[in-house]
Amino acid sequence: MPVCTQRAEAPPIADAERRLTRRAWLALAGCLPVLGIGCATARRQTYVALPIKHTIRSEQLQIVSDFRLGKEHPLITDLKTLRHQVSERLELPLGTKPVTVYLFSNETEYSQYLQAAFPGYPPRRAYFIQTPGKELAVYTWWGDRIQEDLRHEYTHGLLHAALEDVPLWLDEGLAEYFEVAGATPGRVNMEHAQQLVTAVQNGWRPDMDRLESLEKVNHMHREDYREAWAWVHYMLHSSPETRQVLLNYLHELRTNPKPGSLHSRLVAELPDADQRWLNYVASMNTPGLWNPGQIHRAAMHSLGK
Ligand SMILES: [Zn+2]
Repeated sequence: MPVCTQRAEAPPIADAERRLTRRAWLALAGCLPVLGIGCATARRQTYVALPIKHTIRSEQLQIVSDFRLGKEHPLITDLKTLRHQVSERLELPLGTKPVTVYLFSNETEYSQYLQAAFPGYPPRRAYFIQTPGKELAVYTWWGDRIQEDLRHEYTHGLLHAALEDVPLWLDEGLAEYFEVAGATPGRVNMEHAQQLVTAVQNGWRPDMDRLESLEKVNHMHREDYREAWAWVHYMLHSSPETRQVLLNYLHELRTNPKPGSLHSRLVAELPDADQRWLNYVASMNTPGLWNPGQIHRAAMHSLGK
């Protein structure tokens, strides 16, 4: 499975709905015997609450959970480092707006809460939700991929704390980029790279204009996350020119929520940018790329799986 396809950002929610996020009731169907002759469906309500018992604050990060997590836990330290990595790599000032992570103990509690507070949202491992009141909130649970999930979602939080808005595809591309842990950001997600090359071999071509037209998270599929990641990686690492186009665009997003097309800026700077993308993606891969089984194991190893 690709690293990140099971989560996405939900659209802003109404104030009434937002209040529900604090205390949500989950209605469950129950079955009660009636006069010993059958069963009638009744409704009973189960209280589903956000985690509340423990709070850790560390710079912009605020983690709320029902289990104790040491302030020096490696995950917290990693997120502190991530904040500086995002700031330095994207040349954005360190922000101050808090990003609150509601960290559930297990998937069941998380899923029940999401279902009650945000009915209709598709099941995802984690959500970043920015409310109209501008609370930057992450909802997730303590699972096997918690580091990756927290890095991904906290990146969204940091971006939304620093910028007026972030185009959906770019938001996801940057979150995919920073979710890969490492001493410096930019490690290649080998699973993405391998699948992209396979797609290119089969005749698929990248299309940033198409990505830029996607406005709803339900329109973003796993291949779109992958392509978005590759565009970000390409722009940040292939040349000083592509990097500067992206940094200028992000800089403009600090004050202008609708700066227009990034692809048109890229092509204005580098008319053959799309062809260069193909060459760049091919060069990302190790020689073992042409042996998918081998690469899969390598990708899992690099991600600590
Ligand atoms: Zn995301």
